[in-house]
Amino acid sequence: MPCYDPAVGPLPDLVVIGGGVVGAATAFHAAGAGMRPLLLERRPALCTLTTPASTGAFRLQFDNEEELRLVRESVDLFLNFNEITGQERYNLGIRQQGYLWCTAEEAGARRQERLVARQHSWGQTDVELLDGGEVRRRFPYIGETVLQARFRAGDGFLDPKALTLGLAAASGAEVRTGCEVTGFEVSGGKLSAVGTTSGRIPAERAVIAGGPFSGVLAARAGVMLPVRPVIRQKVVLPDLPEVPPGAPMTIDDDVGTHWRPALRGAYLLFTDPDTPAGEPLEDVPTDRRFAFRLLDPASPTAAARISPFWERVWARGSAHWLIQAGQYTMTPDHRPLIGESEVGGLWVNTGYSGHGIMGSPAGSRILIDCITGATGDGNPFRLDRRFERRERDVL
Ligand SMILES: Cc1cc2nc3c(=O)[nH]c(=O)nc-3n(C[C@H](O)[C@H](O)[C@H](O)COP(=O)(O)OP(=O)(O)OC[C@H]3O[C@@H](n4cnc5c(N)ncnc54)[C@H](O)[C@@H]3O)c2cc1C
Repeated sequence: MPCYDPAVGPLPDLVVIGGGVVGAATAFHAAGAGMRPLLLERRPALCTLTTPASTGAFRLQFDNEEELRLVRESVDLFLNFNEITGQERYNLGIRQQGYLWCTAEEAGARRQERLVARQHSWGQTDVELLDGGEVRRRFPYIGETVLQARFRAGDGFLDPKALTLGLAAASGAEVRTGCEVTGFEVSGGKLSAVGTTSGRIPAERAVIAGGPFSGVLAARAGVMLPVRPVIRQKVVLPDLPEVPPGAPMTIDDDVGTHWRPALRGAYLLFTDPDTPAGEPLEDVPTDRRFAFRLLDPASPTAAARISPFWERVWARGSAHWLIQAGQYTMTPDHRPLIGESEVGGLWVNTGYSGHGIMGSPAGSRILIDCITGATGDGNPFRLDRRFERRERDVL
């Protein structure tokens, strides 16, 4: 039984593989360019792997201008979501409460000054540098050890599930769940069909948006992508009266521990640079020691280092918490991979390296522009770029 029956309508112009935020955003922009996308997801429902495990945060504080521009465009879509997408059903629940990066070290303060000067030179002049006194005046829960912070009030967080489902609905794409892509047919170096568990789909154009599985998928067409999945965990504390509900995303810029208000409590995270890359996983395991590394005030990565109220949470001992996990799809320079592979017609939209919620709405527009020819060679995220190592990025 073929997965796509030509008798029910014309073949899709674009097969999009993966029903997370990247696949949904790809389908949305494809439809906007006049294409008829078909969205394939092997799980029983859209948005059930990495995207729902995310923190849903967005920021215009980056260390490179290309990603800053990318997220600026995404944020414009977030802030005008209903108007741009025509969707009334999905509410992104946007909370622009800011991103506050705190440092307790002199070297960290100098690093922040250099970075903010660069951000201003890229036109992001609303990023503020606050000295310790000003930080505590505006955010009284910040401890005495903090010397300085950088802050942008317009940064914030949203509901990644509403974003994904809203984009998918707005695309009008035909969605097939429970449909796994098993291979590709290539003839003369060009894509001719996509193989699935439900049959063969003749197609000259497809996009790999399989999140952590993108490398495995591309390998089925003989394409090797420079992507590695890395496990990232998130402690969810659903009910925590100590957390100020209006607080920004609050980051310890020296070690990378961060938290933000969520539910009636907080999400608490840490991006451990020592986590090794591994294989893509359907069920990402959690490790309770991760929570202790953030909650126990004696830990060098404790949230209490810069926000002392976390000591009270620990001392009280009665807070409920659970851990969620997903995988970042990392590239060597931690920037996305957007463009055509060496197989003609087989496109890639992945590798957001922990920034897919905020990056992929605009990244998918770039991809569709590349497909339609609207972007010349002005795509800084193309697959054949030179990968330069990043000096430092804690999230
Ligand atoms: C703990 C954590 C916190 C994060 N916080 C943030 C944040 O605050 N802000 C931010 O911007 N980003 C954040 N991220 C990153 C963000 O979640 C990801 O970049 C984004 O969700 C990736 O989306 P995706 O669509 O590529 O992947 P996914 O959501 O994983 O979707 C890929 C889909 O492809 C499907 N698929 C795979 N193989 C096949 C196949 N063969 N056939 C059919 N379907 C297939 C999968 O089943 C899956 O549903 C976070 C990530 C984690 C883990």
